[in-house]
Amino acid sequence: MSSELAEGARKFGHRARLVLSPAEVRLLDDQAHAARTLWNCLHAWWTMLPKDKRTLAAADAAIRQARKEIDFLAALPAQAAQAVLKTYFQAWKHCWEVRAGEPNFKARFRSVLSVDTPQGRDLQITRVHRRWGMVNIPKIGRVRFRWTRDLPVGKKANGDNRITGARLIKDALGWHITFRITALEAQPRPHAGPEVGIDAGVNLPLALSDGNHQDHGRPPRLPDGTSDRDKWLNTGEKARLLRLERRAAQLMRHRGPGRRSSNRLRAVYDQIGKLRAKAKRRATDWQHKTTTHLARTYGVIVVEHLDIANMNKSARGTIEKPGRNVRQKAGLNRSISQEAWGRTVTMLTYKTAKYGGTLHKVPAPGTSQRCSACGFTTPGSRESQAVFVCKNEGCGWSGNADHNAARNILHLYRMGLALIPAAGRAVVRRARRVKPATAR
Ligand SMILES: [Zn+2]
Repeated sequence: MSSELAEGARKFGHRARLVLSPAEVRLLDDQAHAARTLWNCLHAWWTMLPKDKRTLAAADAAIRQARKEIDFLAALPAQAAQAVLKTYFQAWKHCWEVRAGEPNFKARFRSVLSVDTPQGRDLQITRVHRRWGMVNIPKIGRVRFRWTRDLPVGKKANGDNRITGARLIKDALGWHITFRITALEAQPRPHAGPEVGIDAGVNLPLALSDGNHQDHGRPPRLPDGTSDRDKWLNTGEKARLLRLERRAAQLMRHRGPGRRSSNRLRAVYDQIGKLRAKAKRRATDWQHKTTTHLARTYGVIVVEHLDIANMNKSARGTIEKPGRNVRQKAGLNRSISQEAWGRTVTMLTYKTAKYGGTLHKVPAPGTSQRCSACGFTTPGSRESQAVFVCKNEGCGWSGNADHNAARNILHLYRMGLALIPAAGRAVVRRARRVKPATAR
């Protein structure tokens, strides 16, 4: 065997925390609101224009004019304004390809604040300390960021390994920077590790077909099914969240109908948002560690294809045909959403590819009811959410319901029922609808 490995370019993002002074935060907020306003102007302009006048060149000219006439739009660097236009066109493209809904206006308090810096050379990144780097942000200046991975900058940067741009994003915990990185990496050797089926369980966050499971030591689902979104918070933080929620409800009662939220209420919402962001960060951290471990250990990973959007929708049913057990299912669905199965699969997709393994998806129906030992689906076998006892005479296998499902998932793969082998894309493609009038 040759030891020469082919190399391939990999594009990925890296997110780092920015350290900004309050004045810099205000400046960056202004930039982001200018970007949001520009988006809204662009959307109003686009949707009002007859479709034969909607061209990229006309949009570009309109943006230039708007930046001249509306003075606060000038806070946004020209490159970032161009990036808004690009993102807007991309949003329509996603819509026409039926991957997303139509783009819409961005509301002041409901949209994520972000500013693009589309050119890597504007950033002038340097490392100043083991833990800190400096980055140039247009119209703000040199800013410190947390250095947590080796970035291709300075002497390490070349045509193949470099930072091609960045995006500044504000969440409840403050401003962050996401670098876009292109790196030349050796193609991994095919992973010779074992095969495994994984079930996004109700009792175990991730149950594996070989009897192992990945747990985060927190209850996957609390008995009342209502407060399980807070499981990533510790006791003190949970108590604080409850206090804040009560305070918010109290302030809401005092707000007259149609009146604006008070600054006090908004401050309480900000604190709630911070706690939720903290919980999400912990959950994502666990997902990253777990999926990396799985991709390193196993050569073939099989998951069930869950349509989470449809699952969440289905419980309620329609007016003509109302759903059954809506309450219970709502609790179940919430805990499935919370385990963020979609994000786990996304991580597994690129991580298995990175370590030379493959990810496969199999159709989900029946995997939780079928017995993995005898292969029969006998009514009543799934005794509860946690326990599976086969009611087939002469079998009687019993075990954890989630492990049973994981074994069924691996079985479906071995039977050759994987939907699209080694593909990370959506498995079931929806029929293309008729393009809207704007498409050409
Ligand atoms: Zn059985």
